[in-house]
Amino acid sequence: WLDAAPTAPVLPPKGAMKARLSANENPYGPSPKALKAINDAAQEGYLYPFQYATQLRKMIAEQEGVAEEQVLLAPGSGSLLVAAAMHYSYAKPGGTIISADPTYEQLMRAAVQHGAKWEKVPLTAGNYDHNLAEMEKRIGDNTSMVYINNPNNPTGVTIDPVALRAFVDRVSAKKPVFADEAYIHYTSDPAKFSVIDNVKKGQNVLVARTFSKIYGMAGLRLGYLVGQPDTLAAISKWGGGPGGLTMTTIRAGLACYTDQDFIKYSLAKGLEAREYLYETLKTNGYTYLPSGTNFVLFPIRMKGEDFVAKMMSQGVSIRQWKFDGQYWCRVSLGTMPQMQAFAEGLKVIS
Ligand code: PLP
Repeated sequence: WLDAAPTAPVLPPKGAMKARLSANENPYGPSPKALKAINDAAQEGYLYPFQYATQLRKMIAEQEGVAEEQVLLAPGSGSLLVAAAMHYSYAKPGGTIISADPTYEQLMRAAVQHGAKWEKVPLTAGNYDHNLAEMEKRIGDNTSMVYINNPNNPTGVTIDPVALRAFVDRVSAKKPVFADEAYIHYTSDPAKFSVIDNVKKGQNVLVARTFSKIYGMAGLRLGYLVGQPDTLAAISKWGGGPGGLTMTTIRAGLACYTDQDFIKYSLAKGLEAREYLYETLKTNGYTYLPSGTNFVLFPIRMKGEDFVAKMMSQGVSIRQWKFDGQYWCRVSLGTMPQMQAFAEGLKVIS
């Protein structure tokens, strides 16, 4: 959400936009079943949707193998990141949140606005992974929580699952761990990389998931948190719960959440675009970080702002970062014509 906010002019001259590859959206959603459900739901828009929200929560709990009280729904996972930020900021005034750097910043930025401190731990040299050892070392009395984004935005890098689970086992015994798994479906094996199992073991762990990525519902706004019931109850004082959800969105979620055909299709299309993007980058002499997400980060050979502007002049929006003394471009996975527009633009400007 915040991540989608532009850092540079995002609109090309009128009518010249070929591909918006700057906000990690998924052009293959909403699924056909979700679209039908939205239509049906609109006819019942005069009703409060609570019974459907209860049904969706139940469905998610069953699928994840947790109790219903261990699922908190909200309009997008971003609002849950903010609610958690507020909960932990006020539970421990002036406390520190530890995160990787760079990572997805929404939770920490919100926490800082509510008086928290933010301790950024640089990614590891060379492979740009979370530096779990260093993050663990920095945990102290004043730590209020540890934020992990797996796979990480903007790098796309996935954390080794064995190391991560061991880290969560140890750290959650001392401090709450928040795992943002927005992109987990784009990894090779979501169940293996997720730390929902740590929640099931009763640990002090929160897992955030979204319908904005694999389900292609960014505009419909739906996400959820999985965690311990008392923690979720405390966080829900700040946000989340069925009240902010619309009939149309809930019914769309119910229609696509376990639609394996659609999930497979959506993933296959994403992976096809990712492979094409890798080839495009190689052909143009670029390296890239191997991605477990619906975007790819690669080092560029000019100032980030110039790269953004030049790609925009080709009708393609992307995002730029600067870290480790290097400018980087992050490009989201779109349809094949959109990826081709990116490839053509890259060739012109390189
Ligand atoms: N977490 C990560 C890592 C993201 O990249 C995003 C959005 O891009 C979000 C959370 C928020 O997504 P949403 O609020 O659409 O669920």
